[in-house]
Amino acid sequence: MLTMQLRSAHHGAKRSRARNVRHRWLVTVGLIVGFSAPAPPAAICAERSPSSPPYDHRTTDATAPSAASFLCGVTAKDVAEFPPEFSSGSEPTAVIIARFQGQWMVPMAERKVRKVMRQVNDWYEEVSHGQTRFDYDLYSGVTVPFPFSCKFDADDAVIEAADPLIDYTQYDRLMLFFPGPFIGVECAFGGYSSVGKRTIRTEDGTIRASVSVMNTAGLPFSPIATRSTIHEFGHALGLYHANGWDCGDDPLEGPCRSIEYGNAFDIMGEPGGLVPPALALPHFSPGFKVQLGWLPEDAVIDVEPPGGRYMLAPLEPPAHEVDPPQALRIARGEEGEAFYVEFRQPIGVDQRIRSPKRTYSGVLINLISSGAKPSQLINARPERGHFGKAAWIIGQSLEDSRWGIRITPIALHDQGIEVEVEFGP
Ligand SMILES: [Zn+2]
Repeated sequence: MLTMQLRSAHHGAKRSRARNVRHRWLVTVGLIVGFSAPAPPAAICAERSPSSPPYDHRTTDATAPSAASFLCGVTAKDVAEFPPEFSSGSEPTAVIIARFQGQWMVPMAERKVRKVMRQVNDWYEEVSHGQTRFDYDLYSGVTVPFPFSCKFDADDAVIEAADPLIDYTQYDRLMLFFPGPFIGVECAFGGYSSVGKRTIRTEDGTIRASVSVMNTAGLPFSPIATRSTIHEFGHALGLYHANGWDCGDDPLEGPCRSIEYGNAFDIMGEPGGLVPPALALPHFSPGFKVQLGWLPEDAVIDVEPPGGRYMLAPLEPPAHEVDPPQALRIARGEEGEAFYVEFRQPIGVDQRIRSPKRTYSGVLINLISSGAKPSQLINARPERGHFGKAAWIIGQSLEDSRWGIRITPIALHDQGIEVEVEFGP
């Protein structure tokens, strides 16, 4: 029961509202959470409804030809019009602890929020190798002078209520912690975020900043709060979800669909399983690290015909500590779609991971589209019906008959895993 509550806590769905891009929310047990359309400055990723079972949702057109069309509920066209913006280095962040008038739930204690932010920054420090951190000021005691309602954007109400306290021109990131509905209410949510920055009108002028929200009513324990906050900051930096690519019994071909959060090996997905993997805080996959500018050029090799054998170093250490590459990128046609091959080891935060024995002795393969999109984990064991054993182990080949690509891990060595890439007709 407790586990169910924790699981629910992270995943709520925010009803799509005026600023969203043609945002269609999911649905479980046949209930459409929301649908709206007006033009917007940024996409928003919300965590799904508490009633959703793990992995099972947001299915898409089963005959869609590629992974490119599925964007956290946003169409590719919408995102092309409103590209997310990224930055790295110091991210000036305003952390706001708030409540709505008349709420019986107390806001999260300042000390707890600081602890969460410390853990979040520790994670980003480790995973980005010091390239991204959220330098923040904390503003607490903010009360929105009216009760919470599903009829307006709670984040805008909090930003406005905190305006007298804050010079918003000083910040690129806003992270709001306040208690909201997380179960049994139409607009229940666990957390949500803009993807990249959006335009915000404040008393200090119009600014561009990402806006992320944590529903602290659903975050009784800090491991969940930390995981969710890291995840929402990932959206703030421009990342979509780490999804799984489900084609029935075939890893790649056939009627396929994108399973939101399906990648348990990326914090932009969902850890799956029970504690301790459920509390795992795994690295971003290499496609996302490239998007964030965290992987240097020479850490990623573009494999072209005729292919060959490559020694792939673990993804976790800084590039200068290993012999590159830390990722193989294999283009799939001319449209910017590519496989990313990566090798995980029990280093730092990746010591806690789903199916460790299999994962540490094989490679993970994601399909990535050009631009900011969700990643699609290719499943080595699709017949299992989940992505927990997605790693490709020694001797197992991913065959892409459409583009004539074959990827096979062939041997484990001290310094990494040897992977063969072949191109055929
Ligand atoms: Zn998310």
